[in-house]
Amino acid sequence: MTARLPNRKSPMLNEHTKTDGLPDAPDLVMPQALDRARPRNERMASDKVECNACPVLCQIGRGRTGACDRYANEEGVLVRVDPVVLLQKTLDAEALLVPFTVRGEGDEAALVPASSVFVTGIGASTTYPDYKPAPFIVASEAAGVDMVTVVTEGIFSYCSLKVKIDTDRWLGPEQANVRCKGEVVGHVTTAEYGSQMLSLGGVHHLTGGSKKEGRVTLEVMQTLGNKKPLELTIDGGAQLQIQAGQAPIVNGVLEQRMRVGCGSATVGIFARQFAGVADEVIVVDDHITGVLTEHQAGRCLDMKPAGIKVRGRKSTPGRYFQVANPGTGWGGTDIADPLSIIETCEADAAWPGLRLLMVSTTGEHAAWYVLDDALVPQPQPMPEAVAQVVARIGENCEPSLTTVLFLGGAGGSLRAGVSENPVLLTQAIKKSVVNVTLGGAPGYVWPGGGITVMVDVMRMPDNSFGTVPTPAIVAPLEFTMPLAEYQRLGGHMDQVRSLADTLAHGAWHNDGAPRARRMLAPAPGNGWPIGQPPQLG
Ligand code: SF4
Repeated sequence: MTARLPNRKSPMLNEHTKTDGLPDAPDLVMPQALDRARPRNERMASDKVECNACPVLCQIGRGRTGACDRYANEEGVLVRVDPVVLLQKTLDAEALLVPFTVRGEGDEAALVPASSVFVTGIGASTTYPDYKPAPFIVASEAAGVDMVTVVTEGIFSYCSLKVKIDTDRWLGPEQANVRCKGEVVGHVTTAEYGSQMLSLGGVHHLTGGSKKEGRVTLEVMQTLGNKKPLELTIDGGAQLQIQAGQAPIVNGVLEQRMRVGCGSATVGIFARQFAGVADEVIVVDDHITGVLTEHQAGRCLDMKPAGIKVRGRKSTPGRYFQVANPGTGWGGTDIADPLSIIETCEADAAWPGLRLLMVSTTGEHAAWYVLDDALVPQPQPMPEAVAQVVARIGENCEPSLTTVLFLGGAGGSLRAGVSENPVLLTQAIKKSVVNVTLGGAPGYVWPGGGITVMVDVMRMPDNSFGTVPTPAIVAPLEFTMPLAEYQRLGGHMDQVRSLADTLAHGAWHNDGAPRARRMLAPAPGNGWPIGQPPQLG
């Protein structure tokens, strides 16, 4: 049932105690206070140690890791196999791993100026079973004010990813299931301006379906949260390859441009440039197709009505909805031939020789026509002056990206690791007294009840997310506030340690179990987490 622990210093530990979620876990015992040195359960073999850092309560054999690969039994001692991540203001590149020392064995804090170091929740360990103070409660100073940062890993059952995919292409119907390895892991939600949104994960998929659905959902969230690539399919829609911070691949095609605007906006932005080189311009868009001479922009430029009528439902002058079906063709429609959206060229308005540009909202598709004597558009080579305007559309498109936001509920039991009166923490966050960060990245706390916090995973250090097989996501969390406020909200004052002491010895409960810390430079643009204004709505 368990596997050998080859070498604790190796980051490649991948064999672990087999645990398949709480309902069938064979070795469940009552939660106990963590004792790193010896087993506490009479039913447990003497060479095992119990980990109680999450509800799974792995009983880990000597030389093996727990079900999450984060804890191991090393010579009868429960150890954490991955380092605590700290941010260091002045660091240019990742430094070597540095061990914490056992209390009383010397002080290496002098190696690093304490004011430039921030302890993150990555690798910090949890407060489970909840009543325990957070593992790191670190005092520091900012602008002459005594501050404290409460640092923990949160075990998130209530969490999801909101994924923004910059594309005009139709990915699937709203509310369609999103699948990974055949399991439903989320759904398509609204289309936004130049982007399609997906909602992935969430407690329903983690706990409300089959075990496999929960496991795959967890894998999806961890993979995307840790900025790694993933394949997804959408029922009745596209096949996707996505990765945070990278261009999406839709049906095998690398997306390059995010559209400059909808069809109507594209007409408006480039109207002056169009007016000099064409008699009519139709910007094809699945949502709002723009027709220049009908559009207010064309009218204000005194353009002569061209009499070219497009299909679809007219919204306002020069703006048409539903000119075609959604798809992966021109402007997010299903068309390959742009003339298919033209209903008529009216004899009382159009004229032979009329110059017509049809273009998509990214400029990736463009065609040039001249009306013949029968008022039928005939394809012609595009003049250089027209091609330059089309190129200008492309130039104004931003690169397509996939953006992944993690959304988690921190308003539950982990608050007990911060305060003996948890509602005061929630209230203090709402009053902007407490700054909430995840791995040092600024969190946006949603208005309303609870501590529903959202963060861009690209602003977090790599591999910030872990999992436990309950199933739940493990994510870092830091609460920074003035020390006086921490005292006021019922904080665990006995566990406050100076930064120097923390750097020297690790967590407040460190009893000599070996740990290591990894120093990273803060992500550009994040600002320093201590002394930053809270990111509140
Ligand atoms: S799955 Fe939970 S109990 Fe098991 S080793 Fe990981 S944190 Fe500890």
